[in-house]
Amino acid sequence: SCRNVLITGCSSGIGLALAVRLAKDELKRFKVIATMRNLEKRKGLEEAAGEAMNKTLEIRELDVCSEESIKECVNSIPGRQVDVLVNNAGLGMIGPLETQSISSMKTLFDTNFFGQVRMIKEVLPDMKQRKCGHIVVMSSILGVQGLLFNDVYSASKFAVEGLCESLAVQAMKFNIKMSLIQPGPVTTEFEAKVYEDAAKIDLSGADEETAEIFQHIYIPYSEKIFTIGQRPEEVAEHTMKIITSNNPPFRHQTNRLYAPFIALKQADPSGNLPLDAFYRLTFRQKRIFNASLGLLRLLLRRKQKDVDS
Ligand code: NAD
Repeated sequence: SCRNVLITGCSSGIGLALAVRLAKDELKRFKVIATMRNLEKRKGLEEAAGEAMNKTLEIRELDVCSEESIKECVNSIPGRQVDVLVNNAGLGMIGPLETQSISSMKTLFDTNFFGQVRMIKEVLPDMKQRKCGHIVVMSSILGVQGLLFNDVYSASKFAVEGLCESLAVQAMKFNIKMSLIQPGPVTTEFEAKVYEDAAKIDLSGADEETAEIFQHIYIPYSEKIFTIGQRPEEVAEHTMKIITSNNPPFRHQTNRLYAPFIALKQADPSGNLPLDAFYRLTFRQKRIFNASLGLLRLLLRRKQKDVDS
């Protein structure tokens, strides 16, 4: 049967790639309701969707920060039938906490956290009634492990993880599936926007040493990390597998390279192991970091062998 998939934030990046991938499904299993806040930005999606436009893909307006806009969009779908909700819309933010305004943090949470809450609130009652549905959420590996100068962004993803982990048990009772997708770095506009904003940060709000660490250690390092990031199409492919799976996992990391990033945390309940590793990594005492990473890779490979055999 053909399923209605509503995706938020489809004007660029992962949302755009996923909308197109699902709309071009060879088996035509999906009707994609690709939503975006600003319809003036529809051109890229229209071009990428090509033949699929207005056949297996429709573009609608939806701002995750407005309950009215969400309601209007969902009401416009026949029977309000959203079989799969993909909460993808999100904002990024980096920089020293002292330089960030409370109002910019609230905007971030309004999108990354309350945006998710608004969407889930709108479709959950219908899904409960139908006793079926799948809620797919774009989290991040930073939803599990914090990262230097990503304080508030990471907190917003932790919030999303807590929300979904709590809801998931209830969802099970109603036969509703929930999945958190956790990409590592992905090269999208997100990254470009984040660096653009970072260049505008008034670093006089922070002391010299902090400003120095941000500009001369963090920025070059994270730019390097992004060059080995995934393409949005890869994340879309992973997400599609989760959507089409009969038994989708609650959490899915899209990039195996980043497994050790989280494994450090899982290996040490005190939390000191990852803190120590990130400290050493950031301040260039890489020897011990590499050793612990190597050990973890070895353990993971062993574990994989156990799983395979
Ligand atoms: P992106 O900036 O290309 O896409 C985000 C989309 O969300 C944009 O189209 C933007 O217009 C939209 N959006 C923002 N506010 C909105 C609102 N109020 N209503 C509706 N749409 C809104 O970046 P992306 O990388 O494709 O990000 C998609 C998701 O993936 C985000 O939730 C992000 O946190 C997550 N993610 C990204 C990365 C990465 O490195 N790029 C890594 C892990 C997770």
